[in-house]
Amino acid sequence: MAANPAPTSAAYDVERVRRDFPILNTTVNGHPLVYLDSAASSQRPLQVLRAVEDYETHSHANVHRGVHALSQAATAAYEGARERVRRFINAGSTREIIFTRGTTEAINLVAQAWARNRLGPGDEILITALEHHANIVPWQMVCEQTGCTLKVAPINRRGELEFDAFAKLLGPRTRLVAVAHVSNALGTILPVERIIAAAHAAGALVLIDGAQAIPHARVDVRALGADFYTFSGHKLYGPTGIGVLYGREELLTAMPPWQGGGDMILTVSFEKTTYNALPWKFEAGTPNMSGAVGLAAAMDYVETLGIEAIAAHETHLLELATAALTRIPGIELIGTAAHKAAVLSFTMQGVHAHDLGTILDSQGVAVRTGHHCAMPVMTFFGVPATARASFGCYNTEGEVAALVSALGKAREVFG
Ligand code: PMP
Repeated sequence: MAANPAPTSAAYDVERVRRDFPILNTTVNGHPLVYLDSAASSQRPLQVLRAVEDYETHSHANVHRGVHALSQAATAAYEGARERVRRFINAGSTREIIFTRGTTEAINLVAQAWARNRLGPGDEILITALEHHANIVPWQMVCEQTGCTLKVAPINRRGELEFDAFAKLLGPRTRLVAVAHVSNALGTILPVERIIAAAHAAGALVLIDGAQAIPHARVDVRALGADFYTFSGHKLYGPTGIGVLYGREELLTAMPPWQGGGDMILTVSFEKTTYNALPWKFEAGTPNMSGAVGLAAAMDYVETLGIEAIAAHETHLLELATAALTRIPGIELIGTAAHKAAVLSFTMQGVHAHDLGTILDSQGVAVRTGHHCAMPVMTFFGVPATARASFGCYNTEGEVAALVSALGKAREVFG
């Protein structure tokens, strides 16, 4: 990796950014918190907290069903958030923006409303070996339900997709390709443009799991040409319990509803029920209005900082940390792809990742340890678990130094 890490932009004022995140002032075990777990869930800025509070304080009522003023205010806030999401990912229409609980629910929606209804024996779904469980298990369930087959494209020892092997697995039987945009366990950025082009040439649809990409890269679903794109609010400085399924309108229109209940219907009788138009057809029940409002505020926040500026800052930290950890004896980096986003997975020789995480926590350094919901990735690299440091818009060079120093202490403790 780079011996001389790229300098962060002078215009990016990380101390100013940190003032928006009061939780970063927390003290842990007598040390200032060093939060290096944004890939699991990022922290929320005051702008998001205030938008949620403002909605709850002044505008809350149930949506879509009321003629009274508060219901209309809540509906305007919720549907306004949908328009904000549309603009953020440059979708063609708000009909293509389905609010879900998160990435997991969005993928399950496509699995059950699209794949389950269309696939059968002989059909194939193609994923990669670096997927999060959320982009594996829903497809395994569909295979059990329909008799279709799951194929897995291999990765190499750097944690990169073996593109030629992937392309060979594509064929007339491939109906859907479902891949991560960025791997949560390894940080690998996948060549999604190439993947989409190859899949479409083979006649397959493509779902991109964008959970780890959306906070680090500008996503333009129309330019990408993805058929489905999924992400979660809580990894984008927004609330938990809210996420998005983007789907091309033509596909969503042809899909039957997934869950039944209020809001997703036009008329109900015991003889025949008719379904609502997009996007509400896929949003049964009272939705997460405050979550949507918070997500919209998070998108405003990210655009104020500039997603490219955030990404450049994080890349600088990633390069610094990569160079520093490479110099620590006994540390092995897991995932050394040429193109990576803000994730650094590693092991320390002779130390279980959980023990390492505990020692780091005793010094205020929060990293994630475990299999990162990507057990097949751990199996591939022959490790039970890794420690994972991940960066967000608020992390600093000083925090990279704190990680390095805490790892040095861990080395002393474990000998
Ligand atoms: N895919 C990837 C790549 C992820 O990193 C995650 C979250 N760790 C998910 C899917 C699932 O997201 P959520 O738990 O927010 O539904």
